[in-house]
Amino acid sequence: MANTDRTVEPSSAEARTALRKRPAAIFGASPMDGIAWPCGLGTPRRRTYSNQTVPYEDMRDDRKRAQETITAWAERYGLRRSTKGCCPQWLQRRVSRRCSSGTCVRYDPPRHDASWLDHMVAWLHGGKPAVLTSAPYGVSQESHARLSWWTEADSRLRVSRGVGWYGFRTTQIVMWRSDILGVVEPAERPEPFFLRD
Ligand SMILES: [Zn+2]
Repeated sequence: MANTDRTVEPSSAEARTALRKRPAAIFGASPMDGIAWPCGLGTPRRRTYSNQTVPYEDMRDDRKRAQETITAWAERYGLRRSTKGCCPQWLQRRVSRRCSSGTCVRYDPPRHDASWLDHMVAWLHGGKPAVLTSAPYGVSQESHARLSWWTEADSRLRVSRGVGWYGFRTTQIVMWRSDILGVVEPAERPEPFFLRD
């Protein structure tokens, strides 16, 4: 496939290969982008890019920074993405298994945990459910209450908040199993210049 991106770095083919291997180990491979990035983190295509206010090159570079941030963060904690993780009930299990039909607190009504799990990524450590990360645009009173409820209901669960990788003025929520990983800090990266106030 022809690549018309004006990629400046990495300069060598070896470095480019290394950059693909690291996220491939975490997210798996995909025929589309090479890497099965979580929703919103794929590299935008110039041909289909339609944002009128942010130049393509700026958005492409921003998504690459987001990809680097999420990859480094996952490596720091020894995590791999799970495609089965659905909600905090998944996090409570010893094996990675989706909630059965009608019981998921994210996908099934009344969907108590859907709001704060916007842009969610589920993570495995040693093959076991270990972390959920999300990137909502805001956290409602109900969501605050749900986060407190989970940590009170299950003493293994902890929550931290930060900036994360997603961008676009979202906030990051990390919910993790403290019996597996101790402390998990949110990833940090500055908003790109085109989104700063
Ligand atoms: Zn669920």
